[in-house]
Amino acid sequence: MVDKPILVTGGAGFLGSHLCDRLIAAGHEVLCVDNFYTGARRNIAHLLGRPNFELCRHDVTFPLYVEVGQIYNLACPASPVHYQFDPVQTTKTSVHGAINMLGLAKRVRARLLQASTSEVYGDPEVHPQREGYWGRVNPVGIRSCYDEGKRCAETLMFDYHRQHGLEIKVVRIFNTYGPRMHPNDGRVVSNFIVQALKGESITIYGSGQQTRSFCYVDDLIEGMMRMMGSPADMVGPVNIGNPGEFTMLELAELVLKLTGSRSKLVFQPLPEDDPRQRCPDIGLAREKLGWAPTVSLADGLVPTIAYFREALQTFAGAPPR
Ligand code: NAD
Ligand code: UDP
Ligand code: UDP
Repeated sequence: MVDKPILVTGGAGFLGSHLCDRLIAAGHEVLCVDNFYTGARRNIAHLLGRPNFELCRHDVTFPLYVEVGQIYNLACPASPVHYQFDPVQTTKTSVHGAINMLGLAKRVRARLLQASTSEVYGDPEVHPQREGYWGRVNPVGIRSCYDEGKRCAETLMFDYHRQHGLEIKVVRIFNTYGPRMHPNDGRVVSNFIVQALKGESITIYGSGQQTRSFCYVDDLIEGMMRMMGSPADMVGPVNIGNPGEFTMLELAELVLKLTGSRSKLVFQPLPEDDPRQRCPDIGLAREKLGWAPTVSLADGLVPTIAYFREALQTFAGAPPR
């Protein structure tokens, strides 16, 4: 048990709020820091009355002086629609946010876990992606603010580790979905489910032959927490994701089947620099963390669809940022 609070930046977001739930359930004290750029109080409202939960509205691009025992650094918009809305702020969030969290971790000697991403592999020539692959990322494209920001954050983690002896943990998260994604999040799983439930056309970008590997949120959080609890020499980077690989057409068909929707498919232009394929090699996570996902895409979509049915009746009109 960590004797000081655990800091979760981006704790009011999709993944961060699930992480806060798990940490509170395990008996930890949690300090949730978020500027509500894409997150919402709604995601952590059920924790607000708890004596071991504290919420702080703060932008991680500014220094933060608190006393904590561990840091999970998740603050950063994750959906292309939102990270491209204010790309300069996205890079600042990844880079200045990492520097501030590293400075904080150095001062209080806290272990720091960085939520990195499969996007560091860019549009990969190696398939599936192993951690040793350096990636193929456009440094000047519309996705670069996110991809290069996350790559620079990884560099900072490893340099603070080598230069200052900081205990770091880097997880490369592959596409994750589940309850609490915002209906207007803009990512593919939420778009397809919302479109299917509303009877609107399903928007396939490009031919729909591009692939992604989708991990259910509970599996992801388990992997992240195992990484935080792993021995100090396990710094990563480590892939956390579900190796089941699907084309966007296959995903659309599965969503139509599980929702019972008769929505039609419409084809729209493929966004610039959209990776053609993505699938994690999770050998390292299996070996070092004893972790592997347990929820198949079909099984994980069921509670996710139930959540979106409810969300569309209640807060769907609320802006995601
Ligand atoms: P999200 O957008 O739901 O959550 C991000 C949270 O960070 C939000 O609550 C947002 O308000 C907050 N935030 C953004 N900028 C901030 C700032 N400057 N200061 C403080 N808070 C800020 O996204 P998510 O899916 O929960 O992603 C969480 C983390 O995991 C991100 O770092 C993301 O890059 C990473 N990740 C997620 C996925 C995925 O598929 N969900 C995949 C790869 C990596
Ligand atoms: N920082 C912070 N909280 C702390 C300690 C540091 O936000 O508790 C910030 C600080 O503003 C600094 C950054 O972290 O800009 C990096 O800190 P570090 O000690 O590595 O560098 P320095 O202060 O020497 O620039
Ligand atoms: N996509 C799609 N229709 C949508 C939203 C996304 O076909 O309505 C595609 C997108 O072009 C990409 C894949 O789905 O090839 C995953 O997109 P997402 O934004 O969810 O994540 P990322 O591209 O960051 O992996």
